[in-house]
Amino acid sequence: MRRHRNVKIVATLGPASDDYLTIKSLHLAGADVFRLNMSHGTHDDIAQRHKTIRIIEEELNSPIGILADLQGPKLRVGEFENDFETLTEGQGFRLDLKSDLGTSKRVSLPHPEIFAALSNGSVLLVNDGKIKLEVKSFGKDFADCIVKAGGVISDRKGVNVPDVILPLAALSDKDRTDLEFACSLGIDWLALSFVQRPEDVREARELAKGRAAILSKIEKPAALSKFDDILECSDGIMVARGDLGVELPVQNVPPVQKRLVRACRAAAKPVIVATQMLESMIESPVPTRAEVSDVATAIYEGADAIMLSAESAAGLYPVDAVQTMDNVAVEVESDPTYREIIEASRNARRNSVADGIVSAAREIAETTDIKAISCYTQSGTTALLIAREKPRVPIIAMTSEIETARRLSLTWGTNTLMSGAKQRFKEAVVSAVRGALSEGYAVENDQIVITAGVPFNIPGTTNILRVAPCNERMIYAMDPE
Ligand code: ATP
Ligand code: MG
Ligand code: MG
Repeated sequence: MRRHRNVKIVATLGPASDDYLTIKSLHLAGADVFRLNMSHGTHDDIAQRHKTIRIIEEELNSPIGILADLQGPKLRVGEFENDFETLTEGQGFRLDLKSDLGTSKRVSLPHPEIFAALSNGSVLLVNDGKIKLEVKSFGKDFADCIVKAGGVISDRKGVNVPDVILPLAALSDKDRTDLEFACSLGIDWLALSFVQRPEDVREARELAKGRAAILSKIEKPAALSKFDDILECSDGIMVARGDLGVELPVQNVPPVQKRLVRACRAAAKPVIVATQMLESMIESPVPTRAEVSDVATAIYEGADAIMLSAESAAGLYPVDAVQTMDNVAVEVESDPTYREIIEASRNARRNSVADGIVSAAREIAETTDIKAISCYTQSGTTALLIAREKPRVPIIAMTSEIETARRLSLTWGTNTLMSGAKQRFKEAVVSAVRGALSEGYAVENDQIVITAGVPFNIPGTTNILRVAPCNERMIYAMDPE
């Protein structure tokens, strides 16, 4: 699906968006990657959504990325008799280990380790910090709290205990089962929640056995202090602002977002900015001005992707939310200030032949009238390097691997075209030119830049750059053999 923007859109699927028509509308409106949150719904629900996405992908002949998000050691309340309750400031509310459905007086919190670590006055935050509970008294299986900030509490909302350090394993038994299940369905990205150490990432990578790229969600202070090592062993990063803004003072989130986006850009690894981007659109067809500005900020920073959570999973206007992101992206990216900011913050560590070739490709594209940069890529690495250059013209990744095309749906500015394995460079040039013409990136006699690695089919060998006219007769005249 050709997009007229660089930033990618990730949409979380849920009850508001699990039917064929809605998923298709979300993709047509701009969702490049779908997020399946393993915290909610059954394996059957997840498998059904996965199948629907793949059907749409085939129908539209448009690679779609699927990101499965593991719950990780996230603490959650149980379910409610009436799905939700409204808590008001000053009222009492009990959390306990009973498995009964919740009421306006209590709900289950099936985590004995929390009760063991509490003290009087401890604060519990529910639903990304929206509800605040203060512990008045507690035992080994309950805590009686006073509501300090009220709001709606509903099934399986997350709980944070910011001042208490809980002994948590990186992957729970549920995560291991979910990981195997998701990988067996065939996913492109596996997101790990509450990563704290590089070893957490390595452990998941071993279990995934190459079946998915690994994306670390940064939402713990511990992850920030080891961020460079975590980035090094991850394929991508999510700035998970929901839990991050509870674990850290909320005013620390914007500087952290800026720092992480820059580090990921320099490392040529995709970075997603997530949570509450268009939160008010859960209930309203129009976003607040502040939300639009937040989406715009992530785009100006050069994030690879922006994400919708509850807006598309459980909101009333999932397709409008995607459309809003798409509209903001198109507008921001046509602002001359966008190019200025993106170019001023370009920060590539170049140390390989491929780095040199892709940076030359960008320079050539910017000095003359070039319509696109086409790159042959098997693993996707060359496309990531070109995306790091943030060229002004579209990037077309030519690949024979559908898995690569799907993973690249998270990468800034990268469009993918499936292209069978090539034996000779001329064949590759002709195929890139045909692709650029047929997808409308160029018209007859325009020029494009093509990069490839010869001999073909050896990953990591980008070593050729060619400027080609979009005219097969001319290509044959120039390269007679
Ligand atoms: P995470 O910390 O992984 O982001 P989350 O609980 O915040 O977990 P999101 O995917 O961010 O989940 O979605 C936000 C809210 O949307 C959830 O708290 C839940 O109320 C609702 N939601 C999302 N996906 C689903 C789903 N598949 N089924 C039911 N509700 C969902
Ligand atoms: Mg969330
Ligand atoms: Mg989270």
